[in-house]
Amino acid sequence: MKKTFYSNKEIFLRELITNASNALDKIQFERNTHKNILDDQWIRLVPHKDNKTLSIIDFGIGMTKEDLAYNLGVGFYSAYLVAHKVIVTSKHNDHDQYIWESQPDASFIVTKDINAQQPSRGTNITLFLNDNQFEYLEESTIKNLIIKYCQHISHRIYLWNENNKDDWQLINICQYSRVPAYLWNPATSEFKVIPPSPFVYVPDYMHVLITYHGFGYDCVRDNYKVIRKLAYIDDTDDDWLAHDLFTVRCVWEMYSLRSNSWTNLKFGGGIPTSSDVNNKFYFEGMCHWWGSEDDFIEHLISFDLINNVWIMTPPPLDIPMDAYDNFEMYLVNRELFLLNGSIALISNYAQTTTFYISILIEVGKKETWTKLFIFGPIPYIRFPIGIRNMGNILFQTDDGDLAWFDLSTHTLQKLGVNVHGCFSQLVVYKKSLIRIE
Ligand code: ADP
Repeated sequence: MKKTFYSNKEIFLRELITNASNALDKIQFERNTHKNILDDQWIRLVPHKDNKTLSIIDFGIGMTKEDLAYNLGVGFYSAYLVAHKVIVTSKHNDHDQYIWESQPDASFIVTKDINAQQPSRGTNITLFLNDNQFEYLEESTIKNLIIKYCQHISHRIYLWNENNKDDWQLINICQYSRVPAYLWNPATSEFKVIPPSPFVYVPDYMHVLITYHGFGYDCVRDNYKVIRKLAYIDDTDDDWLAHDLFTVRCVWEMYSLRSNSWTNLKFGGGIPTSSDVNNKFYFEGMCHWWGSEDDFIEHLISFDLINNVWIMTPPPLDIPMDAYDNFEMYLVNRELFLLNGSIALISNYAQTTTFYISILIEVGKKETWTKLFIFGPIPYIRFPIGIRNMGNILFQTDDGDLAWFDLSTHTLQKLGVNVHGCFSQLVVYKKSLIRIE
């Protein structure tokens, strides 16, 4: 096997980490049905110089006695490119913990682990390295292999440090960009994993912040699209947060479901960004969000999914500046909503509870903002969370209670739900988004 498959010994680490990652993916999938599964999605690498062993540990699905006896294959056996002996300890959820151990005559035995601490789950693979393979105990060698081979691993990989035993070092910083996004069709219950983008290359001194800005439908091509922004942050620049957040290099890209591929949107100049999970929606062929640039002036951004262009609409002049002392534009709170089929903005001035609602008649034309309502002040109200079609606005109160404000009767009705200290979002659920047959 050694000669046939691998001339390159170092790939053993890729094979074993890929197996660990698959095992974590499987447990992640099962989490939906088994609520008691621990939330520990790491892969750990433990180089032990005294013992001359390297262990690869995951808390994934684990292997049963039968898996250990019959399933281990070429990927696993690549461990013998660098090791003369391998011990696997593994526990599958509903089974006992077993130990797989290789023998000098190339056979193996599987025994029940009588020392197992229940309950636990996952796999520990310990390699007893050959005399000429101790380089795989070195931090620098391991890190370089991770950069070279493990770009596709979405789970965090931690490296144990023998000198500082509590120090688990995260070594695949690229993982931020690798956490997959999914599309879910509630009508058919189908999941689709969005593949990684080929445009994301993250050098090892950087990491990437991904903000999803839109998901919508292109009716001309009968295609679903996802819009997102990648901001590259230089980890060696300690001060990036203090002075330069908005000048980090940014890339906008669009995923198309039909071709299952990413396109780099190559916009000149910055598109105003929204870091908020609210204030975004798809409506009539466009993805809309309330975004700001580095000068903090906010705008409505509408991304046209048919022509792949974006349109900017400045905010309305709806709040009378002379109504507030020392009026400052940046103290205006704005929330973007869909109200009875119109793009609507609810605005209030900091610390006050009089709300102004304007709707936009035509995207891109700021003169078509139309004042609809002014209401308030409403005592104890903190901020709006969402709007329901009939014109009820969901608010959070000072005490963290949720309450509906009825626009026609101007009354407030508490829901009896307290969300103090939580982040709340109003989500529309439609039982069937797509007609089947
Ligand atoms: P192949 O190269 O054919 O995938 P491997 O030896 O890499 O063979 O893996 C064989 C099987 O062993 C996997 O499909 C998986 O079921 C099981 N396996 C290997 N490593 C792990 C692990 N860390 N956790 C759970 N199952 C594992």
